[in-house]
Amino acid sequence: MSNQHLYLNGCWAEGEGGERPLLNPATEEILLTIKEASREQTSSAVEAARNAYDQTDWATNSARRVSALRKLADLLEEDAKSFSDAETANTGKPIREATLDIDDSVACLRYYAALVEKREPATIEMADGTTSKVIDEAIGVCALIVPWNFPLLLGMWKIAPALAAGNTVVFKPSELTPITAIKLAHLIDQCDFPPGVFNLIPGAGDPVGETLVTHPDVDKVSFTGGSETGKHINQQCARDLKRVSLELGGKSPLVILKDADLDAAVEWAIFGGFFNQGEVCVASSRILVHEDIYNAFVDKLVNDTARIVIGDPTHQETEMGPLISRDHLAKVEQYISLGKQEGATVSCGGNTKESGFYLTPVIFTNVTQSMRIVQEEIFGPVITVQSFKDTEDAIALANGTKYGLAAGVLSNDLSSAEQVASKLKAGTIWINSYHTPYVEAPWGGYKQSGIGRELGPHGLAGFTEVKHVNTSHTLQKANWYSH
Ligand code: NAD
Repeated sequence: MSNQHLYLNGCWAEGEGGERPLLNPATEEILLTIKEASREQTSSAVEAARNAYDQTDWATNSARRVSALRKLADLLEEDAKSFSDAETANTGKPIREATLDIDDSVACLRYYAALVEKREPATIEMADGTTSKVIDEAIGVCALIVPWNFPLLLGMWKIAPALAAGNTVVFKPSELTPITAIKLAHLIDQCDFPPGVFNLIPGAGDPVGETLVTHPDVDKVSFTGGSETGKHINQQCARDLKRVSLELGGKSPLVILKDADLDAAVEWAIFGGFFNQGEVCVASSRILVHEDIYNAFVDKLVNDTARIVIGDPTHQETEMGPLISRDHLAKVEQYISLGKQEGATVSCGGNTKESGFYLTPVIFTNVTQSMRIVQEEIFGPVITVQSFKDTEDAIALANGTKYGLAAGVLSNDLSSAEQVASKLKAGTIWINSYHTPYVEAPWGGYKQSGIGRELGPHGLAGFTEVKHVNTSHTLQKANWYSH
């Protein structure tokens, strides 16, 4: 990769905002030193997106958009292996997970191309003889800001619908994980996107993110990241009523009913809590188990968690890699100390390695609902296990945090599971599984987990303004005034 890491108005440019070494979290080796965007370059990217929106046929020519997105999907599919290798090197996630991320990114591009291809304005014949058309128009210039845990996939959940709807975009990946975004821009360069339709500006929250969010020519901010950052962005956008959607943090419960098969329940709890090192917004970091099966469940959970294969994330058999950075590892370790101070028991895990940001998965038992390790998002391989006596108790515990992103319910009795699901305050609920995002169905949070939805038709709606055009077929007097 050259030193040119910014893609601005259809051209590559060297960042003028300073250098940042990107580390491989498994080896601590420098993968690439990135030259980040300056405030001025960020503004230039917004202006390029503005000009492309105002002066090309991108917003109005849906056939062109569909064909460009399909070409991009094909190119990404052809190059999938180098993308998944790059994602694993930059994030530390196991290669088999990175492979899924790239497959899902391709599917997302194809889904939104197909959705826009068949979209027609709704027509309503009114009782007074007029005809109304309801048209979904692009919003304009969209700033897309994402975190480091699924760098390409979470980017694609915004890029694909935003471009399909006819917007132009400025994409800001996390400062820790811009590598697959840069690779993506190289593919975009080979497709029929007018210059300025897609712009990439790697850099930090301040200055790059702040400049985007406050820029008067940005019409919409679509943000995925932490709840505190999201609240700040929401306040900035409120100043001039900029459109905003927020995909934020979580502390999601997995509710295991009394009749659930123990082996299956333990495996889903491990998968829900520790997939991607627990660095997942929807991670089931709070396990709630019926008191009758609690002891047997915890014994098996601790035993099976110790068997997770932790190591080199490039190996197919590796099940858990390192955390993203030394700083993040330190933050997670602080929570482990805090949990002990709060009186919880560490039933397993918490060990680090000499090199690489590894942490063996931690299970806290003897926890109470008010503890900070139960209430706050840790965003690492740390779960808490609580028992409940009946479904009412389970629902109260499950809903008892400020978050509402996701939840799971495990039971052989579907009607009991559905009953529990109907009372949970969460945007996504899995019954008898966990984690799978479906590109056809919405994703997003209740309460402090966010505003708006991604994926599915809701995800496209988040990048459109609704315009109602009512037509009287002939021009006649209104006949309202007597003179
Ligand atoms: P973060 O909030 O620190 O950063 C997210 C992104 O925002 C980064 O690109 C960062 O540079 C940028 N940013 C930071 N400050 C900014 C500002 N003032 N203005 C504009 N942009 C700014 O989050 P993170 O540590 O990268 O990611 C972890 C968080 O993301 C967790 O809380 C996790 O739950 C959340 N997350 C949510 C979802 C979801 O779908 N709801 C998905 C993944 C991650």
